[in-house]
Amino acid sequence: YACTVLLNGLVKFIKGAVPVDINHSTGENVITSTKGYMWFLSVNIIFCGWLLLRGTHRSDVESLPPALQILCGCIIALSLINLVITLKIKKNINDGFYHQLLPFVVLAFGLLWSVLFLNFTLYYQNPLITLMLTISVLLPATITFYISGRLLLLFSAPLVICLLYVEFFLQDKFSVAQVGGAIILLLVIYSARYILLEWYQRVQRSEYEKNILIKKLVQQAHYDALTGLYNRLSLARFFEECVSALTGNKKKLFMIVLDIDFFKQYNDMYGHVAGDKCLIKVSQCIEQSLRKESDSAFRFGGEEFVVLTVCDDISQAKAISQRIQHNIAHAHIPHKGSGISSVLTISQGIAQWQEGMTLEALVEKADKQLYKAKENGRNRVNY
Ligand code: GH3
Ligand code: MG
Ligand code: MG
Repeated sequence: YACTVLLNGLVKFIKGAVPVDINHSTGENVITSTKGYMWFLSVNIIFCGWLLLRGTHRSDVESLPPALQILCGCIIALSLINLVITLKIKKNINDGFYHQLLPFVVLAFGLLWSVLFLNFTLYYQNPLITLMLTISVLLPATITFYISGRLLLLFSAPLVICLLYVEFFLQDKFSVAQVGGAIILLLVIYSARYILLEWYQRVQRSEYEKNILIKKLVQQAHYDALTGLYNRLSLARFFEECVSALTGNKKKLFMIVLDIDFFKQYNDMYGHVAGDKCLIKVSQCIEQSLRKESDSAFRFGGEEFVVLTVCDDISQAKAISQRIQHNIAHAHIPHKGSGISSVLTISQGIAQWQEGMTLEALVEKADKQLYKAKENGRNRVNY
């Protein structure tokens, strides 16, 4: 009991030395990898198979007594059953019922191995055998279960207790050197776990940071940083998607180009920071005016915006334009520098996409309408 307490304290001490901070990533629930577990089961089968077969065909090595053969058979059977289940689950042993069952299975393995080794020692009257065999199975177990301290402890506790029992009680003569050797070997194995865990955490952390970075880059690649609308780069992608969605139906694609009236004067009068806030408000007004499924808004340039809309006819595209104009009027953004109104206004040009038209051609067509809207006195929609 004292030794177990000592070992536990030691484990806790080593554990405290390594920061376990994998909670933020998906690593929280991981107890072992499916591949690693299958390797562990295979090692169990091979090791037991070797123990069973090593006596056959050799006159100098006697074959195992029946009790030990039965124990080896039990371990092989348990490993095979686990292997079949793991192969059937295929996906992930870290989920569901099997995840709950695993601690008991691992404990069963630990118990079976320790009973086997104890019997080995009693049969061959050689305590060194237990030490060697324990190390041989603890190593693969450490490699397999290093992520989960609980599983590793469940597997190794029976083995360690058995080993200590053999070292202290089954030796003819108590040997400090052998007990010391056993403790050192156990320490080597347990410290290996923390080295592996540290690597695992490092990989998890860099994976997590990489995913955040990818998300940020995707955000920057597709969206405008100031307004949150899609950026100009996304326009080409959306245009292609809209055009290919049109084939085989009677829908039409329209582009609305919007430009704030007298925005230079707005900046001059209220400053650039207020100008930026104004751009955000305008983009919100535009977004509020769109239909969810078939319209998308883009910041095309400084204070120019584009809306792509798939409609049945022009009246739907005009309705969107009017909703935008209405929403901006209702936002009551004061604009003392405007030549036409006391509040901010915008001008819009609408163009319909025709078969074979490129994005550039469509923008140019809508731009011409916008120019006419500006020429005709601003704060209006031209088609
Ligand atoms: P018009 O009615 O003919 O459109 O007149 P305008 O003054 O709006 O002229 P124009 O459309 O050429 O205005 C462009 C101005 O928009 C120039 C620049 O000061 C301002 N602008 C462009 N991008 C930004 C931006 O990101 N933030 C701010 N605050 N101002 C911008
Ligand atoms: Mg402009
Ligand atoms: Mg303008």
